[in-house]
Amino acid sequence: MAGKVRIGVLDLQGAVREHLNMLRSLGCEAVPVKKAADLEGLEALVLPGGESTTLGKLMARYGLLDAVKRQAAAGMPIYGTCAGLILLAKDIPGSDQPRLGLMDIRVKRNAYGRQVDSFETDLAIPAVGEEPFRAVFIRAPYIESVGPGVEVLAEHDGHAVMARQGRFLVSAFHPELTDDTRLHAYFLEMVSGVR
Ligand code: GLN
Repeated sequence: MAGKVRIGVLDLQGAVREHLNMLRSLGCEAVPVKKAADLEGLEALVLPGGESTTLGKLMARYGLLDAVKRQAAAGMPIYGTCAGLILLAKDIPGSDQPRLGLMDIRVKRNAYGRQVDSFETDLAIPAVGEEPFRAVFIRAPYIESVGPGVEVLAEHDGHAVMARQGRFLVSAFHPELTDDTRLHAYFLEMVSGVR
């Protein structure tokens, strides 16, 4: 294995530091990405939670939508949490917000409504082990439907909340806000698969 995995976390807005810390605790070199030049030399990228409309607009303004799409086309794995999931979705009914649109998923934003806009639950995610995963949902989306190439990795109340399509991974919840590193470790395995 040739050195540490160098991995970026989009740093425009949202829960950035928690991802950096978790990736570092797993032995990665984790760096914040604020502009297109920061993508140079990265093996993978994490898109954090936050506000997807704001994130998409800022990405467009800083040339990051095109730059990340180019890297993704060249083979770079991407993991999106919550707003990051929305940025990766091809289909967001009723919205033309700027986004990467790399995954064949249809997403419903703020899917859990105002009443229970944030909650935690124990989620079965067989791909990361038998032990349930404590999932933190914050004004979270869910995935309404997926295309043929998409593997659903977890469901909550009948809706997909974690999925993978090739080298792209998404979760509607925030694993970086717990101390369970299994999802980040799963993503790093995808990254070494690409290596
Ligand atoms: N509700 C936010 C959006 O639609 C996502 C929330 C989050 O990332 N925690 O962009």
